[in-house]
Amino acid sequence: MTPSSPPSRQPCGRFAPSPTGPLHFGSLVAALGSFLEARSRGGRWLVRMEDVDQPRCRPEHASAILVTLEAFGFEWDGTVMYQSTRDEHYRAVFEQLRATGVVYPCGCTRSELAGAPAGVDGAPVYPGTCRTGLAPGRAARAWRLRLEGDTGFDDILQGRQQQNLPRDVGDCVLLRADGLFAYQLAVVIDDADQGIDHVVRGADLIHSTPRQIYLQGLLGLPTPAYAHLPVAVDAAGEKLSKQTRAAPVDARNPMPALFAAARFLGQNPPDELRRPDCRPASREAVRPEAARRGCADFWAWARAHWNLNQVPRHPSQPVQEIV
Ligand code: GLU
Repeated sequence: MTPSSPPSRQPCGRFAPSPTGPLHFGSLVAALGSFLEARSRGGRWLVRMEDVDQPRCRPEHASAILVTLEAFGFEWDGTVMYQSTRDEHYRAVFEQLRATGVVYPCGCTRSELAGAPAGVDGAPVYPGTCRTGLAPGRAARAWRLRLEGDTGFDDILQGRQQQNLPRDVGDCVLLRADGLFAYQLAVVIDDADQGIDHVVRGADLIHSTPRQIYLQGLLGLPTPAYAHLPVAVDAAGEKLSKQTRAAPVDARNPMPALFAAARFLGQNPPDELRRPDCRPASREAVRPEAARRGCADFWAWARAHWNLNQVPRHPSQPVQEIV
C-alpha cells in the first residue's frame, strides 16, 4: 500500500493485552481466537499494548508478552501500538467531547463512591453526584462521560446484550484523577484509528462494550463486530488472570498451551500435533525460532480448520487441561 492509498477495507482484528504481567492462559485464548478469526477472514491482525494505565504496567512485561507471542508462532501485522505513546490523540478527542458538554468534572473520591450499589460489572454505579455541577468548595478530580439511555448490540457468540447505561454501569471516568486517560476512551480511539472492524476478546469485557459503542456513536466512529470468548476459570470458578497469579504460559514449550487453548475454544486439533519433538531440547532459554518451528504443523491445521461457530457460547468455562 502506498502512503496515499485510501484506508484498507481488509478485515482487521487485534489482540490488546495490558502488560501488567506475563502472558497467561486466559490471554493466550484471546490471542488465539482473535488471530485465527482475523486470518480466516483474510484479514490483518494487530497487537496493541494497552499500557494506558501506566502505574499498573511494566515495559518488561510488554517485551515478555511479545517474545512469548513470537515463540508461540503468532505473526502480527505492522508495528505494535503502545497506548503510553498516544496521550495527545486521547487528549484531542477528550477536548472534542468536552466542547460538546458530554463530559463533566467530578470531585468524588473513590472512598465516597465505595458504598454505591454495584452495577453489572461489579463496580459501583456512579450515583450522579457531580452531574449537574461540582458542589461549592469541591475541586475537579476526574472527568466523567454523561451516559444516557439504552445501548445494545448483538454479540456473535454471546447473543443480544442490552444495558441501560445510567442504571447498569453509570457515568464512566474518561480522564482519571491521576491525569491518565481511561481504558474506555483509549480503546475506542485506538480501535477506530487502527481500522479494527471485528473485536474478539474475553467475555470479562462484555459489560464495557455498550459504553464503548455509546462513545463511538458520540464520536461518529464505526462500531466493529464483537465476539466475546468464554473466559477461562479455575475449578472454583475464578477467572485465571494475572491478578489471581495464573501461571504464565511457557514460551520454551508452546505446544501444550496452544493445544489446550484451541480445545478450550471448541476446536479439535488432532492428537498427533502434540508430537514429542515439539518439546524444546533445552529448557534453559526462550528460543523463539526453535519454539516456533515446533508449532508449524499446529498453525497449518489451525488456520485451515478454525471455526468461530464451534466456540462455546458461555461467558466462562473451566480449563480442562493442565497447561
Ligand atoms: N487490555 C485489556 C485486557 O488485557 C483488553 C482490552 C480489549 O481487548 O478491549 O484485559
